Amino acid sequence: MSSLRPSPIAPTVEFDRDGVQHGFLRLPYSRDDSAWGSVMIPICVIRNGKGPTALLSGGNHGDEYEGPLALYDLARTLDPSQVSGTVIIVPAMNYPAFRAGTRTSPIDKGNMNRSFPGRPDGTVTEKIADYFQRELLPRADIVFDFHSGGKTLDFVPFCAAHTLPDKALEQKAFDAVAAFSAPFSMRMIEIDSVGMYDTAAEEMGKVFVSTELGGGGTSRAQTVGIARRGILNVLRHAGVVAGAVEKGRTQWLDMPSGDCFSFAEDDGMIETMVDLGEPVDEGAVLARIHSTGRTGIAPQEIRAKMSGVLAARHFPGLVKAGDCAAVVAVEVD
Ligand SMILES: [Zn+2]
Repeated sequence: MSSLRPSPIAPTVEFDRDGVQHGFLRLPYSRDDSAWGSVMIPICVIRNGKGPTALLSGGNHGDEYEGPLALYDLARTLDPSQVSGTVIIVPAMNYPAFRAGTRTSPIDKGNMNRSFPGRPDGTVTEKIADYFQRELLPRADIVFDFHSGGKTLDFVPFCAAHTLPDKALEQKAFDAVAAFSAPFSMRMIEIDSVGMYDTAAEEMGKVFVSTELGGGGTSRAQTVGIARRGILNVLRHAGVVAGAVEKGRTQWLDMPSGDCFSFAEDDGMIETMVDLGEPVDEGAVLARIHSTGRTGIAPQEIRAKMSGVLAARHFPGLVKAGDCAAVVAVEVD
C-alpha cells in the first residue's frame, strides 16, 4: 500500500476537529466544460471529543434514494452535544452517478460497489474508492452503507450483514442489524463480492452493515422512515449518539445459497406472480416472461428453487436475458 501515490482527493473538512463541518471531498477532474475543475462530493463531519467513529454512506449506487434522504437529513439535524466520538457522513458516495440518477458513473461507467480497493491513478470512480479504502475506512469502527433496489430491482425493506469467517465480527454486525430494527433483517450472501465496499470494510476487520430498502429508482414514505429511525438506532447502539435504541419488530431472513436467485433466460415482458413479502413454496411460479415479438408463444416460467418469502423482484415491466428476476429468502427465528 505504501508504494501507492497519495490520493488526489483533498477534503475541505478536518476529521479530528470538534463541532459540525459541512464540506467536500474535492476530486480534480479536468474536462471539456471545466479545465481545472473538480468533482465536489458532499461530506459532513460531526465530532464531539474522543469515542468511536461511524462512517455512513448513501449513493454508492446513484439511483437509490432512502440513504441519501436519511443522511442529508441527519447531517442537517444531528446535535453534536448528543455525539460521543465522530460521525462521518457521505450521503452520495458516487456523486457523479447520484447527480445523473444512474447506478454507475456517467464519467467512466464505474460501479462503485465493484471498484474497491480503487486506484489513486485510476478513473474518477476508482479514485473515490481508493480514498474510502485508504483514508476513511481505517478511521471507522462501524461502517454503514445504505442501498435500495435502484431502477431495476425492488426489495422488502431490510437491514443486512454478511455471514463471515470471523464469527466475532459477524456477531457484532448482526447486533447492529438488530438495532436498526427494519421490518426484515437479512443474513446476506453475495453473487459477486469482489470489488465491493462491503468486502473492503470486512477484510479490514470493520463492523459493516448495509440495507436494501425498496427500489424502483424512487423512495416511499415508509422506507424513508425506516432509514431515518434505523440509522439513529445504529448510532445509539454503537455508543456514538446518546439515547436508547427504539427497537421494533423484525423478521430475520436467511439467504442460504445461490439458489435464492432466479434469472431471466429470455428477453420479454415480466409478469410477477407473487408480491414482495409473500410466502412461496419450492417449485411455485414466481414470475412469467412473455415473449412479445409475436402472438401464440407460451410464457417462460420462473420457479422458486426453495421455499421462503419473496425478498426481491425485477422492477420494470420489461426484462432481458440474464436480469435478476426474483430473490427468495428463508424466514428464520
Ligand atoms: Zn445499491
